[in-house]
Amino acid sequence: MEKAIICNKKRCKEVFHIHENRAPGGINDYGYIVVKCKVCGSLTKVRMANPSGMGYFDNFDIIASWEDGGHNQYEDIPEGETALVSGKEPSEGVTIPFKPNPFCPLWQNGKVNLEITANNSFKKVCDSINEQLYGLRNVFLKSMSGFDDIERCIVEQEYEVGGVVYNAKWAKVLKNENTMNSDLFHLIDHSYNDKQIDGVYSRNEMMSYLYRCLMRWKLVASQVIVITPFIGFDFLFSKEEDKQELLCLWDLLNSMLDIKKTTFITRVSTYGSLKKYQKQIDVPADVLKKWNLMSNLQSMIDNPKTRVKTKAQFHAKFYAGIFNDHVELLSGSFNVQTGEILEQMHLRNITRDLFKENYLDRLVEGFEYDDSFNPRTMFIDITKEGKVSSKFVVLND
Ligand SMILES: [Zn+2]
Repeated sequence: MEKAIICNKKRCKEVFHIHENRAPGGINDYGYIVVKCKVCGSLTKVRMANPSGMGYFDNFDIIASWEDGGHNQYEDIPEGETALVSGKEPSEGVTIPFKPNPFCPLWQNGKVNLEITANNSFKKVCDSINEQLYGLRNVFLKSMSGFDDIERCIVEQEYEVGGVVYNAKWAKVLKNENTMNSDLFHLIDHSYNDKQIDGVYSRNEMMSYLYRCLMRWKLVASQVIVITPFIGFDFLFSKEEDKQELLCLWDLLNSMLDIKKTTFITRVSTYGSLKKYQKQIDVPADVLKKWNLMSNLQSMIDNPKTRVKTKAQFHAKFYAGIFNDHVELLSGSFNVQTGEILEQMHLRNITRDLFKENYLDRLVEGFEYDDSFNPRTMFIDITKEGKVSSKFVVLND
């Protein structure tokens, strides 16, 4: 989630942009950072999830950071005015880290929360993973052919807890040498998972599941389908808290979707109203203009991958990850809802034929499956004894 902060000094017009690492439905530590404007030198305090003093920024420096409960000499500095910026890719190499959810894990076996056991086991092998990825980084930096086009890393880790041997699968996107380390891996699969998530949940709980599904699909599915009847173009007329919620949802979608393999389907009327009201939406005094939010939403639905079937009216909402042999379908109410309103949701595995015939063919004209997603991948295997091996693979070669 990108945050924008206005410099505290009244006549200074600087806006600072910073990525906030917030895990939806995970454990987040809150606190503050203090930023120093490079233009006017003023200090501004900013409330942040998982505050960190790290990073290089064009127009500000972070001069202090602390978590709630900690003390700091800068505590009394006034807080800056902030807004969330939707639709921007998180800065290079930064993705929200995987954090186990103690209350609503997607991976669970009986009473064992597999997100927690897997996470604890992963921490123990970070050094081994780093060693493997540093090796890749070295040959990458030398531009050795055969190693310069590796886009993804998948770790398959065996571990033992309570006499049971589990297999956890982790993945991350490799963008450049800065990403070639054990940080920011996501749990994408787990053996002995018997969790059935069909049920009734609060919005926050649903977000946790949606987040986990979208990350899994981004990293391993061949295609992702997002069906939503609305994209919030009554934004202007929404309540302030609804705007925040809507932006969170948009931010989630924008950062968790690989747009190259995503088909985004929305209503014709929604698309039309964007075009029609574009001028009105662009009110100079409005928050959208102030924070330049509209252009991001626009570019999302102006993407050629956005498909609409003419005349279709629908109120269906679902998300799907397409795999070679099945489709994972998450559906329910992901509308913007504030508070703890309960909604229904389910996650199913269905066949590709059924998905196309019963779902897509009614909504989209001429939809065809596309299995071309096949990034060159570094696989790292770790046995429960800690033996490490790795290989580089293009699956369909
Ligand atoms: Zn300033």
